[in-house]
Amino acid sequence: MFNSVRVRLTLWYTLVFGMLLIGFSLFIYIVLSNHRHAKLDHSISNAARTTANFFQSKMEENAGDAERAAGEALKALQLPDLHLAFYKGERLIASDHPEWRGLAISKLVSMASRPEGDTFCNTVDRFGKEGARLALLPVKAASDDDSDAYYIAVAEPLDDFAGQLEAIRQVFYFGLPATLLASAVGGFLLARKSLAPVVAMSNQAERISANNLHERLPGSNERDELGRLATVFNELLSRLDHSFENMRAFIADASHELRTPLSIIRGEADVALSQDRKACEYREALGIIQDEARQLSRLVDDMLELARADAGQRCLRAEEFYLNDLVEESCRAAQVLATQNGISLSVMTHSDLIFRGDEGLLRRMMLNLLDNAIKFTPSGGSVSVNLIREETRVKIVVSDTGIGIPAESTARIFERFYRINKARSRADGGSGLGLAIVRWAVEAHNGSINLTSQIGQGSTFTVTLPL
Ligand code: ADP
Repeated sequence: MFNSVRVRLTLWYTLVFGMLLIGFSLFIYIVLSNHRHAKLDHSISNAARTTANFFQSKMEENAGDAERAAGEALKALQLPDLHLAFYKGERLIASDHPEWRGLAISKLVSMASRPEGDTFCNTVDRFGKEGARLALLPVKAASDDDSDAYYIAVAEPLDDFAGQLEAIRQVFYFGLPATLLASAVGGFLLARKSLAPVVAMSNQAERISANNLHERLPGSNERDELGRLATVFNELLSRLDHSFENMRAFIADASHELRTPLSIIRGEADVALSQDRKACEYREALGIIQDEARQLSRLVDDMLELARADAGQRCLRAEEFYLNDLVEESCRAAQVLATQNGISLSVMTHSDLIFRGDEGLLRRMMLNLLDNAIKFTPSGGSVSVNLIREETRVKIVVSDTGIGIPAESTARIFERFYRINKARSRADGGSGLGLAIVRWAVEAHNGSINLTSQIGQGSTFTVTLPL
């Protein structure tokens, strides 16, 4: 049960709400109670003062006869719910309520704690059912010698007050649990409604596997948190889908590429072994097998290189070297092929250009570009390589006067296994991975590659690398 977010949310919510509610109710209760006490103290103190004035005037009228004055005051001041008592020293001289008899003045004085102007207020328990609030006022009666010894006590029973507080308590006793229950049910429904999209998302996510990666999670409002979660998850799915598609295409292309040389090798071997042949025929067959095996191992090397790059296992071996040397050496290596194909190869470099990067990878990049330029340039054409140093970057421009690349293919030319003319490219030993490796090498050095080409006029590949 506690493993459900809905239940946990509801419990937390109810707990916090309950604590707040109890705190608030207590606060209201205490404020109300204090306010009522203060009001009560004020009214009984006023009553005590009025009584004192009356008593003093009666004392004067009765020539200092306190008992008489008190008796007259009692008769005259019949206040509803208020009980009066007159003390002279310890002795009770007049009262309108039997409870006063048990209340000695020394006890009242010792209890009187809260001053309200000239009176002292407190609560006495043994007065009526619920006790009473009491105001005690010392009185001076000028006509009497023992003037300081008079006290007027006014008590208001707390029955009403206790009844009111009890009513408030009852409201809290029944109201609080009911409110809490209602809020818990409301909270649970709210949590269920809020988490419904999450449940829908997890159900849908459960259904998604490698076979239906194109499916997406439902999301209602893209701008709220859950909508954003669904969007982010869907973007992740799109990327995964894209990678899976690429992987599938790569595997299909790779097996196709591997099948051709393998079937040639098998065919040649089958034919050669089907009957006794002359030594030159065997040599010819083995020569073909050797060519195909070379192409095969080149293909496997390229695939491995790209697979390592994808997996992030092929780290750059960065070191400082002369880029101009690398370009010149690559051109020298390609010169043999160029001469064989009747193509002139020229190179212009910048002297002593120190570069920091992966020399082996960049050499491979150069050889791939040169190989392509020579392969796709007819005899009599030319290939030129320029190394240009700019302030913060260096450019390697490989141009040829070859067959060119159609505009619709320029965007796809760097894709793996993409070839414009598959038959021709294969005959030239190409697998369609050369430019994919070139692009990866350039990007691994934070550079960029640009292609401009015109059919029948030639192509120019410009590699820009930051220094
Ligand atoms: P390949 O191994 O087939 O050369 P690449 O990835 O190096 O594979 O090149 C992909 C395709 O791009 C080639 O098959 C070819 O059709 C085209 N291409 C590459 N370089 C050139 C070029 N300099 N001139 C014309 N076409 C080119």
